[in-house]
Amino acid sequence: MSGGNAGRLVVVSGPSGAGKTTVMREVFRRSRLPLKASVSATTRLPRPGETDGIDYYFLTPEEFHRRRHQGDFLECFEVFGGGHWYGTLHSEVEHGLAEGKWVVLEIDVQGAMKVMEHHPDAISIFIRPSTLAVLEQRLRNRGTESEDAIRKRLARAEYEMSFAPRYRYQVVNDDLQRAVDEICYILEKENKQP
Ligand code: ADP
Ligand code: 5GP
Repeated sequence: MSGGNAGRLVVVSGPSGAGKTTVMREVFRRSRLPLKASVSATTRLPRPGETDGIDYYFLTPEEFHRRRHQGDFLECFEVFGGGHWYGTLHSEVEHGLAEGKWVVLEIDVQGAMKVMEHHPDAISIFIRPSTLAVLEQRLRNRGTESEDAIRKRLARAEYEMSFAPRYRYQVVNDDLQRAVDEICYILEKENKQP
C-alpha cells in the first residue's frame, strides 16, 4: 500500500479545539501530495456554515445505526458520551486509496486506534495545544458550542492527550504556520521513505 502511486492513510487526532480543522485546511492548500479528506458520518446537527456531504454526512441516529449494523463503517464511536456518533465509512477510504489518494481521516483517539490496528502503515499525527488553558480559550473563542458541550470536550481532552504517544508524530499547534510546516514536512518525508 505504500510507495509509487499507491494511496496512503493519514490519521489525524487531537482534542477538540486543538486546531485540527484549521491546521489541516492549510496543509491541504499547501501540500503537493494527492491529499483527500475522508468525509465522516455523524449524528450531530450541522453547525452554521457546514454542508452535508462536504463537512460530514449528517445522518439521523436511525440511519447511522442502520448503516452501522450493515457494516458500512471502518470504525465508529459515540465520541463524547453525549449521544453523538461519528464514523468513517469504508467507502470513503476504499475509493480514495483505489484512486491513489492520501486519504486523511480527522477522527477521535478511539477511532484512530481501531484504524491503526487495521492499517499499521497509516501515518498517524496527533495535534495538541501547548496547554489545556489554551485549548479552553480556543473552544470559547470559536463560539460554536454551548457551555455544557465545552465542559464535556474539556473533560475529555486530558483522556485524549494520554493517547498522544501512540501516534507516529506529535505536533504542537501553538504557532499555526509552524504546525502547518511541520505536517507538510512529515508528509514529504513519508513520501520519500514510506
Ligand atoms: P479542532 O478542529 O481541533 O476542533 P479548530 O480548527 O476548530 O479545532 O480550532 C479551534 C479554534 O482555535 C478556532 O477558533 C481556530 O480559529 C483557533 N486556532 C486554531 N489554531 C490556532 C493557532 N495556532 N493559534 C490561535 N488560534 C488557533
Ligand atoms: P466535531 O463535532 O468538532 O466536528 O468533532 C468532534 C470530534 O469527533 C473530533 O475529535 C473529531 O476528530 C471526531 N470525529 C470526526 N469524525 C470522526 C469519525 O469518523 N470517527 C471518529 N471516531 N471520530 C470522529
